[in-house]
Amino acid sequence: MDFIEKAVGAVFGTKHERDVKRMRPLVAAINALEPELEVLSDDDLRARFAVIRERTREAVVDLPEDTRERSKFVQKILDGELVETFALVREASKRTLGMRHFDVQLIGGIVLHEGRIAEMRTGEGKTLVATLPVSLNALTGRGVHVVTVNDYLARRDAEWMGQIYRFLGLTVGCIQNQMRDDERKEAYGSDVTYGTNNEFGFDYLRDNMKFTLDRMVQRGHVYTIVDEVDSILIDEARTPLIISGPSELSVDLYYQVDAIIPKLQRGEETEDKYGNKTITGDYLVDEKGQTASLTEQGMGRVEKLLGVENLWDPSQTEILHAVNQGLRAHSLFQLDRDYIIKDGEVIIVDEFTGRLMPGRRWSDGLHQAVEAKEKVKIQSENQTLATITLQNYFRMYDKLAGMTGTAETEEEEFEKIYGLNVAVIPTHMPMIRDDRPDVVYKTEKEKFRAAIEDIVECHQQGQPVLVGTVSIEKSERLSAMLQRRKVKHVVLNAKYHEREADIVAQAGRKGAVTIATNMAGRGTDIVLGGNPEGLARIDADPEADPEAYAAALAKHRERCVAEKQEVLDAGGLHILGTERHEARRIDNQLRGRSGRQGDPGSSRFYLSLEDDLMRIFASDWVRKMMDRLGMEEDIPIESRMVTKSVARAQKQVEARNFEIRKHLLEYDDVMNKQREAVYRLRRRILEGLEGRGYILRVVEDIVASLVDRFCPESVDPGDWETAALENEYRQFFGIAVAELEIDWDTINRPDLEEKLITSAKEHYQGRAERFGDEELERLERYLLLDTVDRQWKDHLLALDHLREGIGLRAYGQRNPLVEYKRESYELFEEMWERIEDHVVKFLFHAEPVEDLEQRRRQVRVQEYRPEMEALAASHAQQEQAANTPVGQSRPATVRRQQPKVGRNDPCPCGSGKKYKRCHGATTTVGS
Ligand code: ADP
Ligand code: MG
Repeated sequence: MDFIEKAVGAVFGTKHERDVKRMRPLVAAINALEPELEVLSDDDLRARFAVIRERTREAVVDLPEDTRERSKFVQKILDGELVETFALVREASKRTLGMRHFDVQLIGGIVLHEGRIAEMRTGEGKTLVATLPVSLNALTGRGVHVVTVNDYLARRDAEWMGQIYRFLGLTVGCIQNQMRDDERKEAYGSDVTYGTNNEFGFDYLRDNMKFTLDRMVQRGHVYTIVDEVDSILIDEARTPLIISGPSELSVDLYYQVDAIIPKLQRGEETEDKYGNKTITGDYLVDEKGQTASLTEQGMGRVEKLLGVENLWDPSQTEILHAVNQGLRAHSLFQLDRDYIIKDGEVIIVDEFTGRLMPGRRWSDGLHQAVEAKEKVKIQSENQTLATITLQNYFRMYDKLAGMTGTAETEEEEFEKIYGLNVAVIPTHMPMIRDDRPDVVYKTEKEKFRAAIEDIVECHQQGQPVLVGTVSIEKSERLSAMLQRRKVKHVVLNAKYHEREADIVAQAGRKGAVTIATNMAGRGTDIVLGGNPEGLARIDADPEADPEAYAAALAKHRERCVAEKQEVLDAGGLHILGTERHEARRIDNQLRGRSGRQGDPGSSRFYLSLEDDLMRIFASDWVRKMMDRLGMEEDIPIESRMVTKSVARAQKQVEARNFEIRKHLLEYDDVMNKQREAVYRLRRRILEGLEGRGYILRVVEDIVASLVDRFCPESVDPGDWETAALENEYRQFFGIAVAELEIDWDTINRPDLEEKLITSAKEHYQGRAERFGDEELERLERYLLLDTVDRQWKDHLLALDHLREGIGLRAYGQRNPLVEYKRESYELFEEMWERIEDHVVKFLFHAEPVEDLEQRRRQVRVQEYRPEMEALAASHAQQEQAANTPVGQSRPATVRRQQPKVGRNDPCPCGSGKKYKRCHGATTTVGS
């Protein structure tokens, strides 16, 4: 085992070494430009950058459509500009920030430009590394995104690194949680945009709910660098981004409509012996087609009963739709045949098997109509309005890159899911941190006692300690113990990013004790001896009183230098882990906070046999160990062997977590194709590429399918169901077939089809003249979008239910994923058909508004903000989502599980149970 690991390590080692070696000539070329650039004035540097920029922009005017070809094409152009651009960025950094990119940082920059992951340890200066590929890729003017783990870091990095970009003449933007759309749009319009993965992802979803192109804030997904890439693309990727809202905005409408249905009269269509048709009653029911529709007379009655002026007015689509569904609910669906009522819920009875289908809902408002009819509560659960996994969001970029201190253990996942490979970049200075083997105690209590002793000892010697815990609860427990020992300390729990960054920045001061959960203070550098800027800011506000600040800074600088020496003498920063995390990566992150840039330091993990990881994943081993050693109280086992078995257990958990994420992705991939299709159609509509043409194509399809259905080739023309054909044709297009003067005795199928299509198109042309071409176009676009959005939303709800239900169907050896794929595809096809039917029916019936009063109303219609866009406009956020009452009409953007709750924290649902035993149980493995 040992041997194999070493052999594998050697291979990997050389692979990474070869990788780095390949880039050395580029580094040398960049360095060679330094003397030449150093002597230029600021303006000359800028001018030189501008020349490259001009050149690049011209080169990318005509880009290939195909993503892969486009990436290759652009990459080649940029490769040619790499050396000079990197040299210019470095020079700009020297002049603005006083930092000169180290050679290893140049290598990191090259790796990022290649669209890979640069593994660089904490403190290697990744923030600065990113400026190289960002500036290079910004040359095309197509926008570069930099992703950070929180808003504070986005702001900090955009401001900090912004000095370099601005020096070079590039613009920088930064997305913050509370921003309005116009501010977002401006930020996305910049050459470089910093922001969190959530903001980027949610903006994408919200953009695809917008009703005009100019309201969209993003302008494409070209190149992105993800900082702390493992956190974002692996840990956070467990939970998809979801914008949710009440599934039905107008529950009341269904009750209102339901109340008038009994007042309507069912009619019928009759034909006298001369072939003259008479339609009676308010509505007709087509049992075969499972549809019901209002007659002319019915329209008038409904308008009167509901107090609506014109049901065919585009702003009333929802009402007309609800009426149609109400008619179906009353005339076609029967209690105890098609459905039953159980505990106040409508449960569908499968028409073929007679089985109950709890959890399933009819789509398109029918279920609500039946609920209204039965006077039960209309279920208005919160539903998904838009969703995407981070995986699929980030796979949209032409080029994706990432950086982190800890990627290698997850190399396989990066490769398989994102096509990203990892380059391990050597450190600038040799790493000399002393990583001590784990110690294992029998009980957690003993473990904590020992940990406290270690902390107290370091503290007394003036050595700073960073204590890592897996949960806020554990942090607080340790804190209480330290208080009893009268040791001064601070506790962080990853809630207040900015304040915590300030605190963590001082965690390297002499004798400092800082307790933090894993995520707390990430991205903040711990400088031994303290951070003088931070300390000076406590004394004086640099903005308000720059002089006092300068004086304070000078004072603290001197002090920090002296203090640093003391801390170095005490052994540097000590890392004390109080439990092993499920993934080795997270432990490595904690360790990595010490020993940066060649500093001394040490680390040690304290474990107990009661820890989750040991109990669940190393239990066999633990039992053997206890038997063999007969462990005594307060005497730990300490050996490399322990560390190794723990790592083995961790590898197991990592593999299982990978499986879980893959599983999530497999399901999202099914929907992803559908989402892409819908978003593509939306975009084409918005761009004016689909509209009239699309509608006329749909008209042809509809006629063809009507002819197929009622006048099939296999049936003798004498037996064609012409009455049914006429009825449907009239419903779709508002045209009476009788007027077409068809000679049913002689006409053949192709001629019939042709005739029906031509007359529908002519009829539509007539409408264009009546409405005015422009007006009709506007109406087409509006209806298409509105219908697509409503139906897509409805489809998402159906998918939610389908996914819930499918888990229960794992019987019969059927693969749930295959079932899900098949059924969701069927649902999708049905949805698509509904969109087309709906739009055509409406456009062929909509009435132009004529008198003045109605015209006024029309203005309102034009300003009417479609439902989905109104939803999209809201920026309700995660925290809010957690306590959004059901039925509240503001949508919320959420992550499905609340990722910030530690497994051992009390569950946010208030049950009093631990999260992992309650709502967190689904993400827990092995229990
Ligand atoms: P990382 O993200 O890799 O952990 P940071 O980007 O936070 O590291 O940088 C750590 C510290 O190193 C920062 O204080 C930064 O100012 C400093 N630093 C980075 N690169 C250089 C450099 N080339 N020269 C001097 N200081 C640097
Ligand atoms: Mg960083």
